[in-house]
Amino acid sequence: MDRVEFIQYLLFKKNIDLDVEKESQKISDFPSGFAIIKFLKTHIEKIKIILNPKLIGEIDLSAKELLKILKTYQDPIVKKEGIDFINQLATASKAKFKYDETYALENDPNECIIIGIDLGTTNTVASFVRQKKVEIIPFNNGERLLPSVVSVNKKNKIDVGFVANNQRNLNINDTFFSIKRFIGRRSKEFNTMEVKSYPFKVDLNGEKIKIFSPRLNKKLECEEISAHILKKVKSAAESNLGKEVNKCVITVPAYFDHNQVLATKRAAQIAGFEGDIRCIKEPTAAAFAYEMETTSKSLHTNTLVCDLGGGTFDISLVKKIGSNVDSISVLATKGDSKLGGDDYTNILVEKIKDLILLENDQAIFDERITGYIRDTVGLAKHSLSTENEFVIHIPFIGTKQKSNFDFTYTLTRKEFKEITSSLNKKIETLLKEFLADKRVKNQKISKVLAVGGSSRMPVFLELVERITGKRPSIDLNPDEIVAKGAALFAEYCLNPNSSKLLVDVNPLSLGTSILEDGVTGVNDVLIPANTPLPCRKTKRYTTTVDNQRSIIVEICQGERQFSKDNILLGEFVLDNIEKAPEGVPKIETTFEIDMDGILTATSRDLVTKSVRSLKIKNSLDLEEEEIFRLKEIAIKMSEEDNSKMNSLKKYNELFIWKKVFDDIDQPVLTSSDENIIDNVNFMLKNKDSSDQEIKTYIRKLRIIIQEQEAFKISNTEDFEVA
Ligand code: ADP
Ligand code: MG
Repeated sequence: MDRVEFIQYLLFKKNIDLDVEKESQKISDFPSGFAIIKFLKTHIEKIKIILNPKLIGEIDLSAKELLKILKTYQDPIVKKEGIDFINQLATASKAKFKYDETYALENDPNECIIIGIDLGTTNTVASFVRQKKVEIIPFNNGERLLPSVVSVNKKNKIDVGFVANNQRNLNINDTFFSIKRFIGRRSKEFNTMEVKSYPFKVDLNGEKIKIFSPRLNKKLECEEISAHILKKVKSAAESNLGKEVNKCVITVPAYFDHNQVLATKRAAQIAGFEGDIRCIKEPTAAAFAYEMETTSKSLHTNTLVCDLGGGTFDISLVKKIGSNVDSISVLATKGDSKLGGDDYTNILVEKIKDLILLENDQAIFDERITGYIRDTVGLAKHSLSTENEFVIHIPFIGTKQKSNFDFTYTLTRKEFKEITSSLNKKIETLLKEFLADKRVKNQKISKVLAVGGSSRMPVFLELVERITGKRPSIDLNPDEIVAKGAALFAEYCLNPNSSKLLVDVNPLSLGTSILEDGVTGVNDVLIPANTPLPCRKTKRYTTTVDNQRSIIVEICQGERQFSKDNILLGEFVLDNIEKAPEGVPKIETTFEIDMDGILTATSRDLVTKSVRSLKIKNSLDLEEEEIFRLKEIAIKMSEEDNSKMNSLKKYNELFIWKKVFDDIDQPVLTSSDENIIDNVNFMLKNKDSSDQEIKTYIRKLRIIIQEQEAFKISNTEDFEVA
């Protein structure tokens, strides 16, 4: 149901049991008309939905306006339908109503829109695809970026984005930013010194990192804080689209592990997103957006993505296959999680402070003036991306003598480059190391993409061009490309009628060798091929012999049914297994692949708590041709493997019946029976009989066993009778 329908409903229904005055305070807290409606919906039972697509228009109602309408129309005037009705509302509320038939028709109310979200360390951007066109979702005042900042205000209410960011200097301990650095990570991964540099309190006492809010006097989980940002995105999307939005794709850095991705998904759930929330890697999203939005269409492309954001620098090589993108995945990554645009700002702040001191060594840098310098220098940095110079003016700098003075300095682009040379050097080294990496060295790089707000800096673009020999493409806005990629991915891959595309998947099945129906060396798949990364799968195993105290866990890659035909990536021994009859011990084996393709296999005995694990790097580092070849072989050999498996299972059955026979005490056999037993022994030894032959002998053996048992019973009965 959309806004118009809801208002229509309210007006047509006579007795609305809603205390408008009482609810007004709550209602005005809502940022959008749509949110008000959602709120009202929860107060009114049994809403009848009358769908009239002609009535779907663009309405922007404030809380006040809606209240006014509700009060004015105690006795609603019922008009038939359409524009008259809308106009009635318009005059009554003085709200701006736009009725646009084409808009209404284009907006299929049943269409499910999945939005793409780039939940950045510094900024969050959201996007969606409408009519095959990708659009950015604007926030409150038309801004396309939402600062990833959450704060608790004086009234103990949560502020998100611009409001929170603007109050940062005034609300130091209750303004939370860079939460992406902590989400899904454990306290032990940080040291106390590291978190001291944040103005808010990072609590490392528990296993999970928490953030303390002095105003709420409460520890908050990182997921909760990120959820506030995502909630804001959700409501902006809803007011923009005029309908409920509850599905999303979120981008995450290529190096995020399983826990970080899970925590991000949990944040989305807390924010009210539902269903299968998919996370894709930021560089993949960027490369995908580029493929979809530009005309360059070649069969294979390797894109070097250089993402310089606010606090992180990430380099990735993304491989795309198929002229219309059949598969796309990250081949290699490298970066520095403590190097970004903010460091450029910080270096400038220090430089300006030095220059000020040079002019007046009595200057005092209190919080206010430092904040002011930071804001001005930030402006300078942005401006120097397009201009050659910027005049920095800092007024009212206090001194120890309690007097004030002004400082003015013209900063040029050339000087900016010199001041920040240490940072540029770091970027240069990282890029060079990445290009020399064995996974990258032999790949032909087709293009270079500049991503992230800081990639706008000419010093960065020049540097990347000098080292890679390719001019970075800036065809798509570097702030928006990742979010757009996520929205395009949602549209083209997750919509039920779109074509399937492989994005960052595990290329070949991963399994372990087990004993199945008596057949040893059977490959038991834990993670099937094409499972999206990151992924984790746990399976329960047990022993096959009484008092077995150890097992060998093999990690096999490939599609063949027998482990020996697959690639053995590694193996380890789990010992100290519970001493018990076969089948009793409980052994749990987990395979986990993170976003970087690092595979961790862990086995544990649930009773003795004995545990072993193995980490395998580059497990997914296979050439496309090799993956293809291995898959082809598996298909070709599948019939043969099947029949081999069947016959091994049959042999096992024969073996079991033979064991039953062996357990019979002093069997009485005819010579033909003896002949059969000899043949069975021969068959079990040579294992080259046909399935039919084995089946026949299983039958013969069972008859002999039955005869022996019948014979025994009749003997006992005779005995008893006697
Ligand atoms: P993140 O991915 O970390 O959320 P963004 O990609 O949004 O970050 O980048 C934010 C950074 O980009 C900030 O440090 C900001 O100062 C910088 N930035 C944005 N626009 C420009 C510009 N025109 N010139 C230089 N730096 C910029
Ligand atoms: Mg980013």
